[in-house]
Amino acid sequence: MADIPTIDYNGKVAFVTGAGSGIGRATAIAFAKAGASVAAADINRQGLEQTVQDVAAFGGKILPLECDVTNGSSVKAALEKTVESFGRLDAAFNNAGIEQPAQPLAELSEDVWDRVVAVNLKSVFLCMKYQIEIMLRQGSGAIVNTASGAGILAIRGQSSYCASKFGVVAASKVAALEYADKGIRVNAICPGIIDTPMIARYTGDTEEGRARIIAQEPVGRMGRPEEIAGTVLWLCSEAGGFVTGHAMVVDGGQTAGI
Ligand code: NAD
Repeated sequence: MADIPTIDYNGKVAFVTGAGSGIGRATAIAFAKAGASVAAADINRQGLEQTVQDVAAFGGKILPLECDVTNGSSVKAALEKTVESFGRLDAAFNNAGIEQPAQPLAELSEDVWDRVVAVNLKSVFLCMKYQIEIMLRQGSGAIVNTASGAGILAIRGQSSYCASKFGVVAASKVAALEYADKGIRVNAICPGIIDTPMIARYTGDTEEGRARIIAQEPVGRMGRPEEIAGTVLWLCSEAGGFVTGHAMVVDGGQTAGI
């Protein structure tokens, strides 16, 4: 019988967007702790600096990349720099995203719609476009894109956010089909309510605001960014080697009843 594959990133290269905060930072740290060389991309230089310090503290390998994921040449340049510095690309976590203000569709401005869709969905297209080029040359690679519970469930007041995240699930599944026979796996992850700066902004960071959204979680708490990171590492590893085209909920049971 063959050995059960393990989660080991020694000698591997991981690229993470939104790596300057929340889920992205936790995942960049987790990849580095598991032995990967990590390319950490974000538009926020200060946030990136903190992630670099966190990784440097345990002697991990990290390359900070200032990158705007809505801009094709910025994404292309960040990926070129990754390959120039580390030689290859094994795992990509396309995770940068923004929230929308809670507003019914007819009250939503065109600008907000365009921005949310650009940061959350167009970015995933751009990242995959240039990552797949590299992975095709290698004949291998694994991609995880961050969708959301809002990528499988309609939520009032969240039309642009839901549209962007349903789109992430769709683009991930199509890419998975198109490249399955080329050694490239593509999955989406659908986090529930995770305790990050995004959620702090969404709840107003008050006890009352937190309690209101924790009430949506059957497990009675928010998820931790590290709990998403763990799933991403598994999905990108050989242990997840037969998983592709999947939108995986990691949500404390939030969507179990639908
Ligand atoms: P966060 O706000 O803590 O981090 C998001 C990061 O993305 C920030 O560092 C920000 O600078 C970066 N970013 C924003 N626009 C960018 C751009 N144009 N180019 C490059 N980087 C950019 O949020 P988070 O909670 O860690 O969210 C990460 C992802 O998870 C998002 O896609 C979000 O929609 C998704 N998500 C979060 C939750 C949650 O409860 N926190 C739930 C479901 C899905």
